[in-house]
Amino acid sequence: MATAAAVIPPLNQRPVKNTIVLFDVDDTLTIPRNPASPEMLQLLSELRHRVAIGYVGGSDLSKQQEQLGTTDVDVRSMFDFCFPENGLSAYRMGEKLESASFIGWIGEEKYKALVKWILRYIADLDLPVMRGTFIEFRNGMINVSPVGRNATNPERLAFNAFDNEHHIREKMVTDIKAAFPDYGLTYSIGGQISFDVFPTGWDKTYCLRHVEAEKDRAGGVEYTTIHFFGDKAYEGGNDWEIYSDPRTVGHKVKNPQDTYQQIKELFF
Ligand SMILES: [Mg+2]
Repeated sequence: MATAAAVIPPLNQRPVKNTIVLFDVDDTLTIPRNPASPEMLQLLSELRHRVAIGYVGGSDLSKQQEQLGTTDVDVRSMFDFCFPENGLSAYRMGEKLESASFIGWIGEEKYKALVKWILRYIADLDLPVMRGTFIEFRNGMINVSPVGRNATNPERLAFNAFDNEHHIREKMVTDIKAAFPDYGLTYSIGGQISFDVFPTGWDKTYCLRHVEAEKDRAGGVEYTTIHFFGDKAYEGGNDWEIYSDPRTVGHKVKNPQDTYQQIKELFF
């Protein structure tokens, strides 16, 4: 794979050294499940010559590779920091950092009880269509989809419209909370078809510990300004915690075009 990083100045030699710009992925850099536009990728590349850049997304690396990378460009060479799964998995300049484990945190017994409950609940839902992969087990969380993650794009849109009307995900989250009140879990509805379940505190703010650790490296940089761009920057949205965190300067965007405009205005 090509390494775009080779021509990029090291982190401690960027013109605006103490600033890092972090982006949500879906609806911020790309339309969900779709590749980023060439214009967006070009702008990110130009931005990276001035400041450090990173993304923080809920999905795993393979999905971000599909959306942001290409067949011959590794997404890890395009950003200084890659934070799949909210930073529970993390890469710095293409190298893997320490990751967190959901199963290690929750334990097999509690996890099994939760999964059995969720699968039973989904089995009893009455949706227009159901596909497959109702629970996706990730490193630092599980992702639950009532319609199933194998749904096609038209099926996703149809579920999303149905969900907007019937609040399937919202009700399901309320019901899981009631069933497992002592689990210490946070539920985050994001994207079109699913919600994430993870230990409280393991939201997108999790990635900030990797950003803050940068200053402790040899020749490391202390990031005194951390910009964050995200579309779900409202209470209950999956960008809310990091957007409203006192450590970040939050920017709310409507869609990728809006992100593009705001980057242009702020940094160029
Ligand atoms: Mg988003």
